[in-house]
This record gives sequence, C-alpha cells and structure tokens, in this order.
Amino acid sequence: MLELQPVFPLSWTLIAQMIELLPDGVMVVDEQGMVLRANAAMEALSGYPSEALVGQPLTLLLPPEQRQRHQRHLQQYFVRPRSRAMGRVPELSLWHREGHGVPVDISLGMFRRGEQTLTLAVVRDMRAIEAMNARLRHLAMHDSLTELFSRAMFGELLTQAVEHTRRGGLPVSVLLIDLDDFKSVNDGHGHHVGDELLREVAQRMRRVLRASDTLARLGGDEFAVLLRDQSDAGHTLAVAQKLVDTLSQPWQTRHHEIFPGASIGIVFAPHDGEDADTLMRHADMAMYRAKEAGRSTYAVFDARMAHQMEEKTLLHGRLKRAIEGNALRLHYQPQLCARSGQVVGVEALLRWSDPELGEVTPGRFISVAENSGLIQRLGDWVIEAACAQIARWRWQGLALRVAVNVSAHQLRQPHFADRLQQSLERWDVPPSLLELEITETAAMTHREQAEVLLGRLAEMGVALALDDFGTGYSSLGHLRQMPVTRLKMDRAFIQGVTHDEADATLTRAIIGLARTLGKTVVAEGVETEAQRDFLQREGCDELQGWLFARAVPAEEVPALLGRLNPPRAGGDNRAHHARPGSGPAEGLSPAFSR
Ligand code: C2E
Ligand code: MG
Ligand code: MG
Repeated sequence: MLELQPVFPLSWTLIAQMIELLPDGVMVVDEQGMVLRANAAMEALSGYPSEALVGQPLTLLLPPEQRQRHQRHLQQYFVRPRSRAMGRVPELSLWHREGHGVPVDISLGMFRRGEQTLTLAVVRDMRAIEAMNARLRHLAMHDSLTELFSRAMFGELLTQAVEHTRRGGLPVSVLLIDLDDFKSVNDGHGHHVGDELLREVAQRMRRVLRASDTLARLGGDEFAVLLRDQSDAGHTLAVAQKLVDTLSQPWQTRHHEIFPGASIGIVFAPHDGEDADTLMRHADMAMYRAKEAGRSTYAVFDARMAHQMEEKTLLHGRLKRAIEGNALRLHYQPQLCARSGQVVGVEALLRWSDPELGEVTPGRFISVAENSGLIQRLGDWVIEAACAQIARWRWQGLALRVAVNVSAHQLRQPHFADRLQQSLERWDVPPSLLELEITETAAMTHREQAEVLLGRLAEMGVALALDDFGTGYSSLGHLRQMPVTRLKMDRAFIQGVTHDEADATLTRAIIGLARTLGKTVVAEGVETEAQRDFLQREGCDELQGWLFARAVPAEEVPALLGRLNPPRAGGDNRAHHARPGSGPAEGLSPAFSR
C-alpha cells in the first residue's frame, strides 16, 4: 500500500502566510460576532484595511437593512454551530466601506479554542462571476447583431403579457414582420450588406415604436413587436402602417440603393389565441396573407386563415402523393376555328380525383403546388404526359395540336427549355404540335428573363399563347415584340359580351388589337350561342368553351372530333385536315348552326 508522507511539515507561521496570500477573504469571528482576524483579501472586498476590521462587529460588513436580523441569526448560530459550504445561500452580499453591496459567497467552519467556539469564514468575491452571468443572460435574451430581444426572450415576455390579459388586463397585440426580399439582398450583395440592412431595419423600427413597446429579432429576417394595452385595435394598425412605410423607404449604401420592404401579420390576444405559441402561429399565417396580397402591407389574422392553412397543408400532402402515385390525368378541351367549326387543337387541363377529397379543381391545387415547389414536378409531368399523348394520337393518324398551361414558376426554372426539348425528342413530337399557354401576368413579370426564354422556345418551333389575356398589364410595344402567336381572351369578358357593354367593347378592342398585331385571337369560356354569334360577328379566330365541349379524357377525343368536326366532302373528319380559316363555311356542326 502506498503510504502518503507529508512532503513538508506545515508550521503555524506558514499557514498564516498562506492565508494572507489566498485570493478569497478569510476571517475568524468569535461568539460575540467580533472579527478576530482578517486576511489581505478582505481589504479588496470590504474597503477596510484588514487590521482595521479586527475588533469590529461582523455586522459592519452587512447591508444595513440586514444588520438587526443578522444579530439574532448570529446568536442562534452559536447555540448550534454548523459548517456550511459555498453555494448554499444565494445572493449574499457584503457591505463595502463605500456604501454599496458586493456580491459574495461564504463558507463557514468552526473550531474550538479553549472554552470558545470560533468561526472561520471564507468569503469569495462573486463580482466577476456575476458579471459573466449577466453577460450570458444578456446574450440569451438579446440578438447579438441588432441588440434587440431574442426569440426566447420575446416568447417569455409574450407569455407574461398574455397571462396579464387573462387576469383581466387590456388586450395586447403582436406584429410579426418579415422582410420581403432579404434573400436576394444576401445573395446579391453579400452577407455583410445583409447584416447592415438588418441593423438598419432594427433602427427604423425602434424609431417608430415607443420605449415601452417590445421589439425582437426572431431570427433571419423575421422581427416581432409586442404592443401592450391595445384597447383600440386602430392603434395597432396605425403602428403596422408606420412600420410598413418606414421599411418601404429606400436604403442607400455606398454602392447600392435597396428597398427592404416588409410584410406584417397581426394578432390580438386573447382574441386570436390564449398562449404565445398559438399567437405566433396565427401571426405567421396573417403574415403569409400579407405576402400573398402583394407584400409591403399588413394583414390581420382571422379564423378562416387557420382553416385555409389546414386545407393547404392537407392538399399539399395529398397532391404530393398523387404525383408520386401517378394519379393525375390530363383531360382535353377542343378549340375550334370560329369560321369553319373545325377543331384546330385541344387544351390539356389537369384533373385530379383524390380518394379522400374527391375531385379537386386546378383552381384549388395549382396555387398550392406553386407555393410549395411541387409545381416543378407537376409541370414536368404535364409536359411529358402531353407529349406522350400527342405521339399516341399521331400513331392513330391524328395530328392534333395540344396546348399546355405553364405556370410562372416553371418559366423561372433554369433548364425549362432543355427539358421541354428532351420531352419532344423522347416522343418524337414535332414542336409545332405543342403550344404553351403562359398567363399574361407571368409573361410580364420578370420580363427580361421571360423574353429570353420565350424567344428560345419560339426558335425551337413551339407555339406560344398568352392565357387569360386582358387581366394583366401588357404594354403594346412589348406585346408586339413577343413571339406569341395566340391571345386567349379571359373567360370573364366573354361571359359578359351579350349583356355588359363594357365587356363587349373590351372584347371588340382585343380582337382588333390582335388583328393589328397579326396574332390569332381565341375566346375561352364560350357557353352560349349568343356569345358564339357575337364572337363570330366580331371576327374572333378561335373558340373554346362548354358550348362545344368540356374537357374529356384522351380516349374520348377522337369520338368528340367526329361529333364536332363538320362533315367534309371527302367524308374525312380528322383534325389534321383542319387549319384555321381553311374549313368550309357550310355544314357547320350543331353548335355552329344558327
Ligand atoms: P385556363 O388555362 O384559363 O383554363 C380554362 C379553364 O376554363 C379550365 O378550367 C376550363 O375547364 C374552364 N372552362 C372551359 N370552358 C369553359 C366554359 O365554357 N365555362 C366555364 N365556366 N369554364 C370553362 P380548369 O380546368 O378548372 O382550370 C383552371 C385553371 O387552372 C386553368 O385556367 C389554368 O390556369 C390552370 N391549369 C389547369 N391545368 C393546368 C396545368 O396543367 N398546369 C398549370 N400550370 N395550370 C393549369
Ligand atoms: Mg389555359
Ligand atoms: Mg385562361
């Protein structure tokens, strides 16, 4: 067994010297609470030279308000003395000679000398540790970039505020603020400019808010404001508007001018949620609504949003499954030459029948796909399926042009044209049999980018049509240059042509415009004979609508053509003989006869 030998004998002188050198304060106190001895470190702690402490009552080192109480404690203590390690009593404070408390921790030990019990107190200076703690607390409570409150702190303050309203306090409101185009600032100008912008945004908001309002950065480009005592909702809205305004102002850096812009979602507690989590979730929904409404604006949460959000999540999940399980179908709606009644092409329209949700219309699911990124796969599938169908019809001797709807998001995909080319080649489809319908709005936003792409597509020989024409804002000059061959007038005008003078005038104008620009004009949504007659009279080139046929599955298309196409002299009814304006005027199909 290893025997431990004292390396060096300790003398009392040596021990006393060691105690003098210790960084912690050390005192010996007698049963009356008088200091018998104090080491050098006590001077730094108390401000009194250690000799001056000797003979003084210990209470001298206590905060004045504790002195009396301590006297009693001390008496009790010496009746039954106990030792105590550090860390046992929180928030001890030693009274400094200059009249302020110094945070300390104290351990106590006893020893007997003759009849007396003496106490040995070791006093540790906690100022550095406290400062570090405070720094850590600050770090946890604040965002280091902007010095605003952190997400964690905001959550705590909101919880307290909600608790207060529940106990009868006035309502509070939360504004969730998200910058509109922060990602492009970061990507385009670098992260240091992004950081600068966040600080600028924080400062601008501070200027709009009162000192008592709580402003936090939740992370990334997301901020939140907590307004208390909002008995008047109008006040919250006014603050939101001021924030929108200040954040729409341009920000001038040395090299660039940047427009931050922000969308704000607003909730009121307790009305819109009784706990912080629910409130933040609802504020998020409202914020998205503000984004959808065109950004740089605010939206107030209402219960329907939660419902719609649930539906979107549900639709998204089911749609993803439908795409993976190949459960979507294309149906085809014929487009006819207005003069001859011949079918000149069909428009492919997506159909989705979900086992749980039933028939879901594109109006409901296309926007979900667009907002969730599913549109890329969905769009690719549609083009591939349309090409496959064109090929199948060609094998049957039917050369039918198929128009496919393309969403704005697809146009922004990097290799859209290449992939389209691949689909055409894979199915050996002549590009002229494929038409892409692009909404007017999609073609006009991100115009330069769209222009390049449309040019490339036209070069490939693919036909291009502007869908929902009349609802966007095309400039005439731009329209003339665009390589589109067809303008599809929006259904909304066609519906009104027979009873609404404004719609009739507009439709006439669009037809005239198309003629001037040398483009074919198509009317969609033709439901009545009166509408058809009007359009024929005004010189519209092509017609599409329920009057002739609804969209049908591919298998039914040949029979439909047989029914729609007017019989020809040779008895051949097939669409590939049909060319706009080339069909005979006599022998119109039932929908065409007056
Ligand atoms: P759109 O491209 O303007 O398509 C025309 C819509 O009008 C179709 O609705 C069609 O069924 C409907 N319609 C046709 N004739 C009539 C009529 O006489 N009266 C009435 N009231 N409606 C008629 P659908 O199939 O519900 O599609 C709605 C929209 O969804 C389409 O508008 C298009 O923007 C979009 N969509 C459909 N399929 C696709 C697709 O494959 N990809 C993309 N990106 N969007 C698609
Ligand atoms: Mg369309
Ligand atoms: Mg349309």
